[in-house]
Amino acid sequence: MKRLQQAPNLAIATLWADMLTGAGIPASVQRAYASGIAGEIPPDQSLPEIWVDDAADHARARALLDEWQHLPEHRWACRGCGEIVDGPFEQCWNCGAMRPA
Ligand SMILES: [Zn+2]
Repeated sequence: MKRLQQAPNLAIATLWADMLTGAGIPASVQRAYASGIAGEIPPDQSLPEIWVDDAADHARARALLDEWQHLPEHRWACRGCGEIVDGPFEQCWNCGAMRPA
């Protein structure tokens, strides 16, 4: 097991782990439920993390994650407020509207 990257929330962590596993790199989400005790540990340690099962996959997983985080189709304009939303988000961070189909 080797730590790959911290994710901003559990939904994204799960998505990335699933995508890595689907790409042939077994990965899992760790510390996924630590947010419930966030008051007891530093905030930057309460976020979910992606771990690869095999440290030998780390570099490839790292490259894939970088690629996914910069996919152009992950940028979309919200119909509700016009905000540009970046990243693998299905919901506008500004007004809460769902991503257009
Ligand atoms: Zn919006």
